[in-house]
Amino acid sequence: VFNFSAGPAVLPVPVLLKAQSELLNYQGSGQSVLELSHRSDLFETILHETESLLRELMDIPDEYRVLFLQGGATLQFSMLPLNLATNRQMVDFIDTGSWSQKAIKDAQAYATTRILASSASDGYRSIPVEAVTSDADYLHITWNNTLEGTTYTKAPQVGVPLVADFSSSILSEPIDIRQFDVIYAGAQKNLGSAGMTLVIIKDELLQRTPQSSGSYLRYDTHAKHHSLYNTPPTYSIYLTKLVLEWIKEQGFETVVQRNRQQAAALYTYLDQSTLFSNAVAISDRSRMNIPFSTGQVDLDTQFLKFAERNQLVNLKGHRSVGGMRASLYNAMPNSGVDALLSVLHRFEQGER
Ligand code: PLP
Repeated sequence: VFNFSAGPAVLPVPVLLKAQSELLNYQGSGQSVLELSHRSDLFETILHETESLLRELMDIPDEYRVLFLQGGATLQFSMLPLNLATNRQMVDFIDTGSWSQKAIKDAQAYATTRILASSASDGYRSIPVEAVTSDADYLHITWNNTLEGTTYTKAPQVGVPLVADFSSSILSEPIDIRQFDVIYAGAQKNLGSAGMTLVIIKDELLQRTPQSSGSYLRYDTHAKHHSLYNTPPTYSIYLTKLVLEWIKEQGFETVVQRNRQQAAALYTYLDQSTLFSNAVAISDRSRMNIPFSTGQVDLDTQFLKFAERNQLVNLKGHRSVGGMRASLYNAMPNSGVDALLSVLHRFEQGER
């Protein structure tokens, strides 16, 4: 089947095959990767290589630390204010939808929150354009909005540290890390499997954490121990290494081009269709998550059934948005998008 899930998402077939081949006996050690001690040389090499590959592919400058944590992107909604909202106890947000709101709600437990701009008034079909200024401890944005299918294309310029949730678009396009102070992402969309959360944080922010926080909740703990303070999500880190090797083998540019072409092909179809449409402002359309609908609940349901009969799975839109959503993460092959376009066309022609 072709899997259009928003996450956990499709993994590259070569990655799954490599993981399968190494599952029982990792590099002649007689142990499964799952069984390796996180203190073993074998695992430390995996961890080290994962970080080097990320640094290379994302061009991460030396003054940023790369942390492999657990708790999903959701734990970051609390860790960020706990560690960083320590001067004015104030966090600013730009509200671009459901994940922004979850981040805001959690930050409210630790700090005063303000919403500097929001696209709520147009049903989150765009990214707010107005210039913002902030005097908070940091500004938080959600770069790619997984449910609503919008994305930033340019980082807002503010005089305070910029924190960005990249969960659903990390490594799908080149970004200039220096425009951000913290970038975080759950692994289960573009990086690997659920269980690992990537945090890229500027060194100087590690000083902000108050002494009173529990050890796991402190970024400086993980930075000091190179993500080995406690047992890290070892298998998920290993899978990320395989995914990064897969990206490097083709060249990151090839992956980026493929993402652009796939999204363009689907949007082109939707824009000329007389049955299906995508409601997002053209300049803010996500390349990773593409919601669409016929505008009629019954017809959407019929389409989803038709798609499933044709081996296209997990196309149902999030319940808060409705309709359909195609997530086209890095591992989606062109043949998956071709199959989707063909099924859309056949349905539009009246096939059921
Ligand atoms: N932020 C965004 C943009 C997401 O898409 C998701 C999950 O889909 C999350 C945060 C939450 O991630 P997790 O389930 O890893 O906590």
